[in-house]
Amino acid sequence: MTGERAECARAESSRQAVRGRLAPSPTGALHLGNARSFMLAWLSARSRGGTLVMRMEDLDHPKNKAGAAEAALLDLRWLGFDWDEGPDVGGPRAPYVQSARKELYARALERLREAGLVYPCVCTRRDVEAGQSAPHEGEVLFYDGTCRGRFADYDAARRALPEGRLPAWRFRVGQSAPVSFDDGFCGRFTQDVASASGDFVLAREPQGAGYMLAAVVDDAAMGVTEVLRGDDLLEATPRQLLVYRALGLTPPSFTHVPLVVGEDGKRLAKRHGDTRIASLRESGVPPERVMGLLAWWCGWADRGEELGLRDLLPRYDPGALPRAPAVFDCAAKEILGMVR
Ligand code: GLU
Repeated sequence: MTGERAECARAESSRQAVRGRLAPSPTGALHLGNARSFMLAWLSARSRGGTLVMRMEDLDHPKNKAGAAEAALLDLRWLGFDWDEGPDVGGPRAPYVQSARKELYARALERLREAGLVYPCVCTRRDVEAGQSAPHEGEVLFYDGTCRGRFADYDAARRALPEGRLPAWRFRVGQSAPVSFDDGFCGRFTQDVASASGDFVLAREPQGAGYMLAAVVDDAAMGVTEVLRGDDLLEATPRQLLVYRALGLTPPSFTHVPLVVGEDGKRLAKRHGDTRIASLRESGVPPERVMGLLAWWCGWADRGEELGLRDLLPRYDPGALPRAPAVFDCAAKEILGMVR
């Protein structure tokens, strides 16, 4: 093979290999912050000819809202997103909704149980519930290991609880668990999981696996090669890497990007104004204006420029992504016509 042909073959195989994912949770309406992270995930995969998987992270959670899963897909389609596999388009690794994949998580948990890497825990409900969803920054609870080595088996733990409550399953982190990885945006990140969170919840009963286990099992089963998401999950990644290791799975690459914040520097919330994509659509803002704002935040568009998602492919420059979070400020509101 000539040098040039070899180069083309290499480029071709690396193109085929990239698989990114969009993984919304139906816990509320999609807002500008979510849309910005999804835009970067889409661009990262598509700019290298990669495939995108849409996965709905709809495991039982008190914060789940009826209709939010369908609404998220609708909002993303309106903004110009597409995906090759997903709940609405099917694909070889279906199903693409977590609530329909519980069998897989149960099997993974069984393997961890056999390996002695999880133990039953009877600690407080709040602690266990927190383990069911993605532990965004500020939501990490430290566990001191109260139940580690406390019960001979699951039944013994169950007998320690009142009727109607079942023990959860906690991952055994141990006394020291330093984990390092190279983040695509943040660079080298090191954390000792033992002191950061301690043993963490993988599943509760009878609901089954929570986010930590489900996301790992799915990203591996769906052949995901890169995870790009908000940097509020950076600190959760070492825990996920421990789960990958425990299950003998190859982790994807991780890239954590800054979030969109309000003028007070806090993660986007209701008090910052209505930044829901559906509200923008309903008030007649064109999708290109929204995408233009997301691109302007990244430094790839002029203020107020209107652009389609695909128009961003030639402008996509991950190296030029601002280090600081994007701010939903007066300028952003003006672009969206929210202030006159
Ligand atoms: N479904 C999670 C969330 O919306 C995303 C988790 C992930 O990207 O790994 O918080």
